[in-house]
Order: sequence, then structure tokens, then C-alpha cells
Amino acid sequence: MKTPTSDLVAAEILRQRAEAASRGSEARHLSLLDHLPLCVHELDLNGKFLTMNAAGVRMLGLDSASAAVGLDFRQVVDPVDLPRVETLWLQALAGQGSEFEFRGSGRMAGRIVASSFVPVKRVDGQVASVVGVTQDITERSQLEGELRKFALAIEQSPDSISITNAQVQIEYVNDAYLKSCGYAREEVLGKNPGFLKSGKTPPETYRALWKALNSGEPWKGQFHNRKKNGDELIEDVVIGPVRDRGGQVTHFVEVKEDVTERMRIAEELGEYRLHLEDLVAERTAQLTAARAQAEAASKSKTVFLTSMSHEIRTPMNAILGLTYLLQQEHPTPQQLEHLEQINNSAGHLLSIINSVLDLSKIEAGKLTLEHVKVDLRAIVNMVVAQFIEPAEKKGLTFEIAGAEIPGALWGDATRLKQALLNYVSNAVKFSSQGKISLRISVQEDLGKEVLLRFEVEDSGIGIAPERLARLFVPFEQVDSSTTRDYGGTGLGLALTRQLAELMGGEAMASSETGRGSCFWFTAKLDRVARFPGLSPEIVDSVQQPQGQHAGARILVADDNFANRAVAVAILENSGFVVATASNGQEAVEMALVASYDLVLMDMQMPVLDGLQATRAIRAASGLQHLPILAMTANVFEEDRKVCMEAGMNDFVAKPFRAQSLLSVIEHWLSLGPLPHLPLDGGNCRFG
Ligand code: ADP
Repeated sequence: MKTPTSDLVAAEILRQRAEAASRGSEARHLSLLDHLPLCVHELDLNGKFLTMNAAGVRMLGLDSASAAVGLDFRQVVDPVDLPRVETLWLQALAGQGSEFEFRGSGRMAGRIVASSFVPVKRVDGQVASVVGVTQDITERSQLEGELRKFALAIEQSPDSISITNAQVQIEYVNDAYLKSCGYAREEVLGKNPGFLKSGKTPPETYRALWKALNSGEPWKGQFHNRKKNGDELIEDVVIGPVRDRGGQVTHFVEVKEDVTERMRIAEELGEYRLHLEDLVAERTAQLTAARAQAEAASKSKTVFLTSMSHEIRTPMNAILGLTYLLQQEHPTPQQLEHLEQINNSAGHLLSIINSVLDLSKIEAGKLTLEHVKVDLRAIVNMVVAQFIEPAEKKGLTFEIAGAEIPGALWGDATRLKQALLNYVSNAVKFSSQGKISLRISVQEDLGKEVLLRFEVEDSGIGIAPERLARLFVPFEQVDSSTTRDYGGTGLGLALTRQLAELMGGEAMASSETGRGSCFWFTAKLDRVARFPGLSPEIVDSVQQPQGQHAGARILVADDNFANRAVAVAILENSGFVVATASNGQEAVEMALVASYDLVLMDMQMPVLDGLQATRAIRAASGLQHLPILAMTANVFEEDRKVCMEAGMNDFVAKPFRAQSLLSVIEHWLSLGPLPHLPLDGGNCRFG
């Protein structure tokens, strides 16, 4: 009979047997598990290790499996990952399997661990324990990280990247590849990369490609491919073989850059470059033509100026000369006044013509400066003398300062005088009281040169400062009413500035409305003469008293009756004995038969012109030293030169004022017969 005790004992025995049996298999299992490279462990429901295999013991760095018993698995989980791991642990306790990765801590610090937990259930379905398999995946996960980076780099590369297998079938393409050729991934995978060929890549490219790849070398080159839509696709390509550990080529990696646009631009640039050369040639031709045209225009402008100057000066000579003659013939006071007005008007007209011509000459680069000894005192005296009368009439006085000026200076005396005259004439014109100060000072000593400053200050109507700069522009006046009140052309200041600049200086003014103005200009003068010439003495001679050579015989050759009459009258009035010729031929004949002390020779005459006549006279024996003075309305430097070259001695520009004509004649007569002919250094004198 079974007793409850015996039942109990039986049950206990059975249990113990079963337990023993199970312990035996457990031991077997555990020794099996010890050989596994994975960490295998069993946890109680609190998460404490019950058992652990050798790999686990090694992983945790323990001495034995028993040292693991009772350790909480949470101790090896990084606290940051713990909440997540805890959830999964609860999942395992609830009877579900769970897998997770976590960062280690404590003994596992710095490692990355992957665990998989499986609940062990009793017969009644309750979870008795949890079996886990754990692996240190640190290295693998690092490798994966690296791989992910590479994959990302390849996927996101702007270059087309493809990988083909050894059979040259495409296994992988990145997005850029698809974007550049326009195909979808499924249309590309499995294909030979040659499906993009357009037929335009030279066959030798492919030959070179395979030659390199077959010998295991990477290849670099260019493909002319075609996109899905048929568009051209030019690509710079690098292809490299990929080998397995055994050295066998398993794949090819191809990296391509779309250079279609770059090639197109390069081609376009090439065309532009070619075109540019054509353009440059064309433009050069245009510029050459334009320059020729400009030169021709400038030449014709000069020709026009020369002839206009000649045309105006010739009748002006008659007007001024005949006026002078009429003044000598005892006119009534009223006639005298009229003659004075004619004289003034003609003089004014002449000064306008002179200004216009001077400006044009400067503009055309035709105005050359004289180089004569400059007597500043004489210049100032002459300028002041010219205005002393009108100034006195207005009650204006002159004040002159300029003591520390070096004695001997060379430059263009005529132009200095002209510039100063402009300023003084304006000062007189625009002042009604007070004084006019004329100052000359050394602005800068430059060694061989000095920069002189000429100032003319008045106490006249003044100018608003903002108007000042514009006044030095041709034809500019303060306002038209000024012109009505004061007359004038608006050329004087412009010319003064141009002259000052030509002489290495500048011109400006300061002024205040109602308070007067101070106009100044600077000019460089030389300390030494650049070439020895007759000119300084000629300038001085203008001051010489006249009439010394009364009785001297002068031949006047001019085809214009009025001009001839003027010259004759002026000369005879001064006591000279005058003969006339109406053309060059006549002049030569007369010079050969009679003896004259001086010849005044017009330039433009019929039969023989002045130059030809002069040459003929010079050719005759005994007449080499006869002073021959050109009388001409051509006032350009070139005209002066040709006169000198033809053998003339000096140059009198028409229209001439009686006074200056007489001065030149006196000068040449006082020199007596000349031992030699000056070829240069003669002086051009304006009436
Ligand atoms: P023009 O005197 O023949 O008109 P300018 O070029 O010499 O020509 O002068 C230009 C203008 O400058 C004059 O019309 C006048 O308005 C102004 N101007 C020149 N000098 C003076 C001065 N000293 N005082 C006041 N205004 C002057």
C-alpha cells in the first residue's frame, strides 16, 4: 500500500533521479557550450547570472564560471543604453525572445555587444529563467561603420560610379550614374557598360582600355557616350580592377565625370579665340583707317587754317596799313576818331583771329615755342604800357612786384607776353576802381630751369568761385550779359592756360564776387640758352630808336596793290627810298640791276613766288648777303622754316603794324651786310 510518505519519497527519488539525469546532461551540455566561441549564459528572473560558459567567463575577464554566478547582467551595460535593454529584458521575461545591441560598461567598457535572450519555460508555461547568447561585435561593427561610410560616399558621389563583375555585367550603379545617363536602375543592372556607346569613341580608346585592364592596371580616358534621350555624353573615365585575396580579378570599378559642358565651353572658347584673332585684325584695320582719316582730317584742318589765316591777314594788312596812312594825312578830328575806331576794330578782329589760330595750332600740336633770352622787365613794361591809358581813364593804378627773379632766363618771350596781356587786359576790363597788381615770383627752382609764377590781381567785379574753372574752357564767359557789357570772345583764358601748359606750367584763378580776382599762371624758363641765336638781340632791337637808316634803299615785292601801297607809304614816311615789284620775277631782275639795302618779299606771288625769287637772288654773285625779309600772312612754324631754307633772313607776319615793320627793318639795316646766313634762330614777329 502506498503511503503518502512513500509517495513523497518516490516522488523525491524520481525528482532526484531526474535531477541527476538532468544534471548529467547539463554538465554535458555545459562542457559542449564551453567550446563555443560565443558567450552562453543563463539568468534568473532578476537578471543575475546562474551559469556561464568559458567564452563568457573570458569575455567578462573572470577567473571561473562560479565568479559569474550572482552578477547582474546590467552591470556590463552602458547606463545610456540601459533603458532600452531593460525593455527588451522585460520582453524576454514576458515569454518573448529579444535581440539587442548595447555598449558595454564596467568589465565590458568600450566594447559593443550583441545579445539574444530566450526565455526558458516550465511545464506550466511560467518562465523559469532566461538563456542568453552574447557576442562582442566591436570589430565587426567598426568595420560595418567604415563600410557604411564608403557606401555613402559612393552613393552620394557626384561622379558616376559603377561596379561590374568579372563578366563585365553591371552589378551596382550610384544615383549620379543614373542621373547622368537618364536610365533607371533596373534598365542598367546586368548590362554591359558598353550599352551607352555612341559610336564616336575612337576604337583605339577601347583597345587601350582592355590592354590596361587585362594586365591588371587601371585605365584613364574619355568616352563619347550617349544618354537615354540621345544627347551626347562625354565622360572622363577611370576604371580599375578589383581582386580577391587570391589575386583573381572579380570586379571592375568605373568612375566617370560628365565633361560634356566643359568640352562644349572649351570648344566655344577655341572658336572665340580664333574669332578674336579675326576681330583684332579687323579692329586694327579699322583703327589704322581711322587714324589715317584723322591724320588726313588734321592735315586738311591745318591746310584750312593756313589758307584762312592767309586770306584774312592779307586784307587786314591793307585795312591796318591804309588806316595808318590816312591817319598821317591830316584828317579832320572826326575823321581821326573814325580812323581810330577802324584801327581799334581791326586790331580787335586781328586779336580774335590770332587767338583762334593759336588755339587751333596748339590743338594740332603745331605751336612750337621760341627759345630766346627773356627780359621780364621789358615784357612787363610793354604789357603795362599797352594798358596804361585805358587804366588811367578808369582811375586804375598798376603795382608791379618781382625783385628776386634770376637775371638771365631763356624761353618764349612772345608767349609769356601774350599770356600776361590776356590777364592784364581782363583786369583792366573788369575793374572800375582800385589797383591792378602784377607779381612775378619763383615758384620752384628746378636747377637748370625755374618755374615762374605770374599773378595779376585786380579789385574788379570778381567771379563766383564755382564758375572759375569753366572760364579756362574756350568760348566760356561768366554770362552773356558780361559779354554785352564788356565785349570779348571767351578765348583769352583758354589760350593762356594752353600756353602755360605748353611752357610746362598751369593756369588758374581765385576770386570772389564783388571783391576782385587773382589770375595766375606758371611757366618754366631755362637758365641757359639751348642754342645760340640771333633772336635775343632781335628782341632788343625792337626797342631801338627808328629812322637811323633814313635814305636806305628798300625793294618791296608784293603782288597785292593795297599791301604794296601800305608798305611803300610806311617806309617812305620813315625816310626810306622805296622801289616796288609786283611779282617775283620782277623782283629778281630789279635786285640784279640796282643795289638795295634790303628786300621785303611777299611769299605768294605770280610768275615767281617769294621763295623762288629769293633763291634766284641768292644764286647771283654779290647778293648772298642782301637782307631779304619774308612778308607773309602764313604764320605757321613750317612757313618760317621754308623761308629760312630758301635763304631769307627773317620773317614779318602780315598784317604788320607800322611800328614793328620798321623795327625789324632797322634791326637788319643796323647789322650791315651779313657775313653768313642764319639758317635758324630767326624770329617770327606778329603785327
Ligand atoms: P574774354 O575776356 O574775351 O571774354 P577770357 O577768356 O579772357 O575771354 O575771359 C573769359 C571770361 O572770364 C570773361 O568774359 C569774364 O566773364 C571772366 N573774367 C576774366 N577775367 C576776369 C577778371 N579779371 N575779373 C572778372 N571776370 C573775369
